[in-house]
Amino acid sequence: MKELSDYEFWFLTGSQDLYGRDTLKQVAEDSKKIVNSLNYPTDNKKLAYKLVWKPTLLDSESITATIQKANASEKCAGIVCWMHTFSPAKMWIRGLNTLTKPLLQLNTQFNEKIPYSTMDMDFMNLNQSAHGDREFGYITARMDIKRKVIAGHWSHESTRNRISVWMRAAVAATECKNMVIARLGDNMRDVAVTCGDKVEAMMKLGWNVPYYGIGDLIACMRKVKTPAIDELMKVYESKYNIVWGKDPAYTKAHIREQARIELGLRKFLKMTGASAFTTNFQDLWGMKQLPGLACQRLMEEGIGFAGEGDWKTAAMVRVLKIMANGMTGDGKGVSFMEDYTYNLEPGNMLNLGAHMLEVCPTVAADKPTIEVHPLGIGGKQDPARMVFNGKEGKSMVCAIVDMGDRLRIVANDLETITPPEKFEKLPVARVLWKPLPDFTTSSEAWILAGGGHHTAYTNLLDIEYLRDFAEITGIELVHIGEGTTIPAFRNELRWNEAYWSMKK
Ligand code: MN
Repeated sequence: MKELSDYEFWFLTGSQDLYGRDTLKQVAEDSKKIVNSLNYPTDNKKLAYKLVWKPTLLDSESITATIQKANASEKCAGIVCWMHTFSPAKMWIRGLNTLTKPLLQLNTQFNEKIPYSTMDMDFMNLNQSAHGDREFGYITARMDIKRKVIAGHWSHESTRNRISVWMRAAVAATECKNMVIARLGDNMRDVAVTCGDKVEAMMKLGWNVPYYGIGDLIACMRKVKTPAIDELMKVYESKYNIVWGKDPAYTKAHIREQARIELGLRKFLKMTGASAFTTNFQDLWGMKQLPGLACQRLMEEGIGFAGEGDWKTAAMVRVLKIMANGMTGDGKGVSFMEDYTYNLEPGNMLNLGAHMLEVCPTVAADKPTIEVHPLGIGGKQDPARMVFNGKEGKSMVCAIVDMGDRLRIVANDLETITPPEKFEKLPVARVLWKPLPDFTTSSEAWILAGGGHHTAYTNLLDIEYLRDFAEITGIELVHIGEGTTIPAFRNELRWNEAYWSMKK
């Protein structure tokens, strides 16, 4: 896998040669200063990725050449365009027609405040993004170029934060083009929502979703040596609290089996080049346990995962992990999730998210325990798994579903809460939340939109990341949160239907 930190973004300054040498010298100096300040701000709150300054663009030839270089660059995950002065937009048509990278238009201005008493026409000429950026906006709107627009002064933290959000979404979209989601087995028999058009997913997002037989994993597990398992057991003991129970020998043997699966899965992912994978409890021939702890451990490191062969959700978990990368470690605060059980008490309606085994410990409130319990489904040995409660605070879930002619992301803002009572007998990791705007609206809207029961959950990212991702990749997104009402949401779904069938 490529290092995410290798990615960079190119900063393109638009102008024209009409201004004369002195003004253009100033334009170049100003834009260098902006790039430098965005890369190394005085408050040290840097952008998520590096910005690379490029020479001022003055004509159609240099614009086209620069955009083509950006398209060809493996490192470049997008371009940021800023019209320092007026840049007649017909010059941009040829280049923009070839653009294949995400585009952000930064509508900023070198000077922050209007210097009322001293300003003259020279000042006006050097601070005219107010109309330069509108000219650029016209052509990108008319050409229907996928883009994000951010307006604000470049020195402000809020502007920088928004650029970082977009950068993270652009890197995720870029990574999608190389993403392999290895399916161990097919999606679970007869389940509709986990199925989908893999050709469409590859055309739209770049996702490559190859099938592997469970024997491919077994072969990798057979190569795992005992000392490697011993080493990994030490890691488990130091990082998590192991509940040894009444029969420590039994517990140990079962955890060791998950260690073997984890090490086998690592080999398998390396062999297949996959950064996400799925399992299927109906397809475990030759396996002693359903992978539980093993999946949780890999997700903890940033790998995408979903159960029951749900490759779309596994890919979304990986997408969110990429967006969250480096925020608090590597992809912390993102997990595979499933809507499991409701609390329908009047005035306190809640949703409990969990899965059979595989919730990622990066969303845990405290140090997880490793426990071994029977699993009623799948007919295998009692699997080891991590158990914990989710960390409270603002969070979000999203599902990605195949509507037949397009992919749709359904997202819902949540408030994750600390469970009011102890779960004495629930042997799996769980997250309890209050969906926004309220339980009834959230569930009704989610179901009307066809959002599945499997989701990618995060307590780090908000809807703006998904909006940017959906814009860049050109897929539908519907959002449920504060302010959502069912009649308006229903209409949005109907209008979207018309829009997306027109787009096709
Ligand atoms: Mn499931």
